[in-house]
Amino acid sequence: METSDIPGDLTEILLTEQEISDKIQELARRIEADYTDDRPLLVGVLKGAVMVMADLARALKIHIDMDWMAVSSYGRGTQSSGVVRILKDLDSDLTGRHVLIVEDIIDSGLTLSWLKANLETRGAASVEICALLRKPDAAKVDVEVRYVGFDIPNAFVVGYGLDYAETYRNLKAVAILAPHVYE
Ligand code: 5GP
Repeated sequence: METSDIPGDLTEILLTEQEISDKIQELARRIEADYTDDRPLLVGVLKGAVMVMADLARALKIHIDMDWMAVSSYGRGTQSSGVVRILKDLDSDLTGRHVLIVEDIIDSGLTLSWLKANLETRGAASVEICALLRKPDAAKVDVEVRYVGFDIPNAFVVGYGLDYAETYRNLKAVAILAPHVYE
């Protein structure tokens, strides 16, 4: 879906399909350079990271493994609580593996910080994070994100895997959702 298909739903296009694609290539070159000796296990966080994972995996010119997790934050309201429940766990054994968590967006950072700590307890040789988008609040939590695509403003964005009520995931761009959609 293009932004022109739903102009009334969006207030601002933050990143075009081309900008995202260029950034994914850039991230892939950095990741390849860092994992020359070790075949990394890319762990995608469902469902938002599906698009990043699909494009990043194909951009990489090295062998990789792929696995998926689904998690949900406990807590009321729309704020992340930091208490996370695993809805779908990995199929892979992490012992001695170099794990790269692939995420769409890091907002409060609480989910990723919990996930990183959880995977580290499973005997992984290393656990790093690649997030396409990062919001300013992420800086408040002490989680090191090795590969960041874009720093974006503190607004609710949709597209490229990111949804509002399961809609807009198939939008090719990343855009700010118009308040009238959710108010
Ligand atoms: P946090 O970093 O706050 O623990 O949570 C990150 C998760 O919140 C992301 O994986 C994503 O599911 C959701 N999220 C945070 N900001 C946004 C946003 O602007 N748009 C959408 N669609 N989801 C968001």
